[in-house]
Amino acid sequence: MQKTHTCGELRKEHVGQIVTLAGWVHRRRDHGGVIFVDLRDRFGITQVVINPARVTPETFRLGESLRNEYVVQAIGEVCERPAGMSNPKLATGDIEVMVQTLRVLNPSRTPPITINDDSIEQDESLRLKYRYLDLRRERMTYNLTVRHRLVKFIRDYLDARGFLEIETPILFKSTPEGAREYLVPSRLYSGHFYALPQSPQQLKQLLMVAGIERYFQIARCFRDEDQRADRQPEFTQLDMEMSFVDHDDVLNVVEGLLTAFTEEYHHLHGKRLLYKPFPRFSFHDVMERFGRDKPDIRFGMELFDISEAMRGTSFLPFQAAHVKGFVAPGCAHYTRKQTDELTEFIRQKGARGLIVLWHDADGYRPSGAGAKLSDAEKQAIMRISNSQPGDLVLLAADDNRMKLNEALGELRHELGNRLKLGDPNVMAFLWVMDFPMFSFNAEEQRWVANHHLFTAPAEEDLPYLETDPGRVRGNQYDLVCNGYEVAGGSIRIHRRDVQERVMRVLGLSMEEAYQKFGHMLDAFEYGAPPHGGIAAGIDRLAMLYAGASNLREVIAFPKNQQAADVMLGVPSRVSPQQLEELHIRIAVEEEELTA
Ligand code: ASP
Repeated sequence: MQKTHTCGELRKEHVGQIVTLAGWVHRRRDHGGVIFVDLRDRFGITQVVINPARVTPETFRLGESLRNEYVVQAIGEVCERPAGMSNPKLATGDIEVMVQTLRVLNPSRTPPITINDDSIEQDESLRLKYRYLDLRRERMTYNLTVRHRLVKFIRDYLDARGFLEIETPILFKSTPEGAREYLVPSRLYSGHFYALPQSPQQLKQLLMVAGIERYFQIARCFRDEDQRADRQPEFTQLDMEMSFVDHDDVLNVVEGLLTAFTEEYHHLHGKRLLYKPFPRFSFHDVMERFGRDKPDIRFGMELFDISEAMRGTSFLPFQAAHVKGFVAPGCAHYTRKQTDELTEFIRQKGARGLIVLWHDADGYRPSGAGAKLSDAEKQAIMRISNSQPGDLVLLAADDNRMKLNEALGELRHELGNRLKLGDPNVMAFLWVMDFPMFSFNAEEQRWVANHHLFTAPAEEDLPYLETDPGRVRGNQYDLVCNGYEVAGGSIRIHRRDVQERVMRVLGLSMEEAYQKFGHMLDAFEYGAPPHGGIAAGIDRLAMLYAGASNLREVIAFPKNQQAADVMLGVPSRVSPQQLEELHIRIAVEEEELTA
């Protein structure tokens, strides 16, 4: 090794030792002819001192030439810092290394981003272009460390419980599970394609047919979807499958794992569980109470229902089947401009409008459209909402209850974020269960699976599969944390006849079904055990534990929001020869598309 210690390692007990350190110049300060260098490596920072009285003139001149991010090796003696000079913020703050010899292993150009001060907000495109510099920042090293710990913990935890980690192929078969796929053209078979897996779903089920019983994988998944803040075209899942289980067994493994990680690594991530055990909600209840299938339950602001109280109202906006709302605590100081903006927000989420009541010291302020409500109606609202002086009451109405819940849920979520109601040091996990198995896509006039087509229908709903698909519940579950869906899974169908019935509901002809999923249907005829599983988003969990603001912060080399890697220049063109080998001709050039 070109160093005897890391830059985070030396303490008082090393005083007197001659050590060799190597790392990057984090900062250089000149004080009265003495040069102080903060030398950094991944493990920490050590102060290195170049004193002209102790080194040759050449070494001192070398010290003077040092700039930020030069790679340096320093040999010297560990000394206790003079009285009053220790730095309690640094783990190595009691000592410094008095340089004897110094080598510049590699100079550096001035970095285009700031590496030595995490408090500076920096342009993300520049950070992504120079990701290898960005990752040198303490914050990013921390994020990668949290992620590593999580994955390592998962591997050990599941290994101890009899799970086998098994890799499944990346060159997979095109069997769209919902999202658009990435395709890889085959050279050997003209006109044929591999597809990158959206998840190892089918293969993990086949592993259950193969008798593995307990499988997991830290699996890369690929989905060609439009990008959002919490999406990446390629992402990592903890993928799991178990045989001879009910949903409780699957939930217990995941809950046990995340509870243990949260508690055992508290010293690293500083997060604690809000609820233990994780509460369970039905899909119906989360939609009624929070208006979102992935609610943030770190704060209240639950939806209330005033539909009954508004029956027969002469207030036109509330002449609808359903009237609901929630209380924004302490927001009575909001101006009309602010509430107009909330109205605009909820309209974009599908609501017809928003009625706002300001709760002052002496009741609801007579202003805004809500002033037209009768006194009795206002009293009913005050009673049901339990609003207090200083609060703002937000109300909306619609004949479509689901639409109303969703719009209010988005507004609740948005306000919760703006008001910073969620404690950042808390992980509020919850399970959502009893989802409807299918929803009707009005545009395409067909039923689509809410999870995926391998999900088992609830046993007691099987008779309605063909006659009333809308009332069939799926044996599926989601894990939610702080407003994010962090895992989802289901008990699977393991019988060919049931699988075929579900495929028919989804509008697949048996020919099509067999062409796409013949391997599954066949496998189910050879003693497929009952099985179920789940997949948890590693990127999302790492983001939440690291307290990062988006997924890109916990992925070493992420794609940007246009699905591109600006450092590598990906996607890129390939040579005509490569295209020829793949039997591909470009029919439409990019310029023609954007023209
Ligand atoms: N394959 C599913 C997904 O990626 C998870 C599962 O059902 O286990 O969402």
